[in-house]
Amino acid sequence: MNKPENEKFWTALPKAELHVHLEGSIAPSTVVELAARHGVQLTEAEAAARYAPGDFAQFIESFIWVTGFLRGPEDYALIARRFAESMKRQNVLYAEVTLSIGIMFRRNQDPAANYEALREAAAQVPGVRLVWIFDAVRQWGAAPAMEVARIAAELRSPDIIAYGIGGDELGLPTRDLRGVYEFVASQGMHRLIHAGEIGGPELVREAVEMLGAERIGHGIGVMRDERTMDFLAARGIPLEVCPTSNLRTGALARQLGKGAAGYEQHPLPEFFRRGLPVTLSSDDPAMFETSVSQEYAHVHRMGLTKMDMVRLAEASFQHAFVSDQERSSLLEKFHSGVSALGLV
Ligand SMILES: [Zn+2]
Repeated sequence: MNKPENEKFWTALPKAELHVHLEGSIAPSTVVELAARHGVQLTEAEAAARYAPGDFAQFIESFIWVTGFLRGPEDYALIARRFAESMKRQNVLYAEVTLSIGIMFRRNQDPAANYEALREAAAQVPGVRLVWIFDAVRQWGAAPAMEVARIAAELRSPDIIAYGIGGDELGLPTRDLRGVYEFVASQGMHRLIHAGEIGGPELVREAVEMLGAERIGHGIGVMRDERTMDFLAARGIPLEVCPTSNLRTGALARQLGKGAAGYEQHPLPEFFRRGLPVTLSSDDPAMFETSVSQEYAHVHRMGLTKMDMVRLAEASFQHAFVSDQERSSLLEKFHSGVSALGLV
């Protein structure tokens, strides 16, 4: 995949990152380091090769493979510090980071200990604020999803801002998750879910109507249905769009009913122009050989102007789960960064 031009400019643009998985951000060199900690010899090239998915199912397999090297608090602390440093290098002022708590339970780990270690490690990197989304794995069922919701409620921290579900959206009907999301709402946490990534527009609509989802992870399936796009626009529900991810996992090709798809077929520019609330994100940057800055460069090349891109970056602050006071302070930093770049 070509490296986008003028990446430096998009690195300098202040940003918020709202859809990124901590476990998808582990660079191949760090995978090698983690594997060595646990007595597994691996080269960077081997790690990178394991990251190259042929389709969505293989992507889920790679994700589960890499998390096999996260065996305790020290491992989570290492990847959280590296992640925070990467956000800082890219001038990300604020990030809502998804943590696969479902995988920790599945591996019989102590999610509270892992969380405490990673939160502390990330907090040592100044200049970027990270908050956390506790995430369950959809295809593993409603009971494990509830276990994740319960630990999020139990730990009750202002840094755990939302509950989400990822994985295979076709693996469990939306209605089966109703009770989990009712519980999450009763605990005052924000509600997120991946939907319309490989699934159709009906799964996006169900996520909003049945589960009260406040933002949708991906949601590109709505490109197939104008009414769902209008529905989201009317309700002001943003889609967290991750173009490179959609190409690498084959999700876009699948939505288009084709064998392959390129950036030029991605619906983000159309969503933006028709006034659908959208934000731009990297999803699993190390696994997809991208970064949030590179996603901005890609979308600019897909036809949005620099001013459009500034609006897109601003939207990531507007749709963040922060207090009015924190939003004003982030937007102030954003606007002064934009002026420094000579954009307004
Ligand atoms: Zn995701």
